[in-house]
Amino acid sequence: MMSFAAESRRILVSGGAGFVGSHLVDRLMGEGHKVLCVDNLFTGHEGNFKHHLNNPNFEFINHDICIPLQAEVDEIYNLACPASPIHYQHDPIHTIKTSVYGSMNLLELAKNLECKIFQASTSEVYGDPNVHPQKESYLGNVNPHGIRACYDEGKRCAETLFFDFHRQHDLDIKIARIFNTYGPRMHKSDGRVVSNFIVQALTGQPITIYGDGSQTRSFCYVDDLVDGFIKLMQSDNGVTGPVNLGNPNEFTIKELAEKVIEMTGSGSEIIYKDLPSDDPKKRQPDISKAQRLLDWQPEIQLEHGLQKTIDYFSKILRGR
Ligand code: NAD
Ligand code: UDP
Repeated sequence: MMSFAAESRRILVSGGAGFVGSHLVDRLMGEGHKVLCVDNLFTGHEGNFKHHLNNPNFEFINHDICIPLQAEVDEIYNLACPASPIHYQHDPIHTIKTSVYGSMNLLELAKNLECKIFQASTSEVYGDPNVHPQKESYLGNVNPHGIRACYDEGKRCAETLFFDFHRQHDLDIKIARIFNTYGPRMHKSDGRVVSNFIVQALTGQPITIYGDGSQTRSFCYVDDLVDGFIKLMQSDNGVTGPVNLGNPNEFTIKELAEKVIEMTGSGSEIIYKDLPSDDPKKRQPDISKAQRLLDWQPEIQLEHGLQKTIDYFSKILRGR
């Protein structure tokens, strides 16, 4: 059993060694909270939290959330789950276990502690959407047996579990549906489009567009996303979500490639590769619910966020 001093606010962040989770940990630590980071380091790594290791308010445990855990905390954020297609498709059975068994374990913990619990859900619950932009009321178009299903259906089932714990045990739940998010600490080889394009541009490799590049995504900078998490977690007890969190500015993947080339001054050529199966053709959040309930909207637009991300990758690539 892990525990912190009784007088402090203690927050468990699963997946806290990953890209988004480590930014959330920084934010919570910066606000003076105590953080228990639970992560199996599958896609996360110690470099993302090493700056907190000498801080007594920070504790890390290398643990897979598919295995039940005990802890004494006041709040739980569940972010543990590989998020990029190459990572979640690496061991699809473990991915779905992470969303289903992992969520169940953290929900049981929250139930026992009577504490609130946040779930990092995803725009992938909308699948390849037939409705555009996507509102929370849209029930989605997911292929239940395709190569993305371990992630999409796992996250859908996690939402079901969260709502059943809410209805059956009156648990205070907060569900965020996160749209494509980017920023420093993305894994340089996790295959996601922003990190791929920037690394390719900076290293002079061809920029790989899958399909014809007409598919769209709406990219949110990580700091904006973390603001949304905090506002959702602090919202009234009655607010359960799901709430879309993302930046509604929509771009084609070709436009993104061109912007990255322009901003990096790269001489990389664009090459076209096959589109992976079930790749959604378009995606854009309707964030009116977040604006209304949380008074939240993203502030950082693509060029500004891309510049910060390019600076980050330039630095780590120079360091290699
Ligand atoms: P990431 O891969 O960088 O981080 C995930 C973290 O979870 C890693 O540190 C990993 O080691 C850990 N993890 C994975 N399986 C685990 C397990 N079984 N037990 C314990 N730890 C485990 O991904 P990210 O982009 O930071 O995403 C964080 C969360 O946000 C995920 O739940 C993801 O589904 C969700 N999300 C992210 C995006 C995005 O664009 N980044 C979009 C939608 C949803
Ligand atoms: N993509 C691409 N080239 C890459 C990586 C991704 O064209 O090198 C495309 C991918 O096919 C998808 C979009 O960019 O249409 C976003 O991919 P990502 O994996 O970042 O996010 P997701 O598909 O999960 O939204």
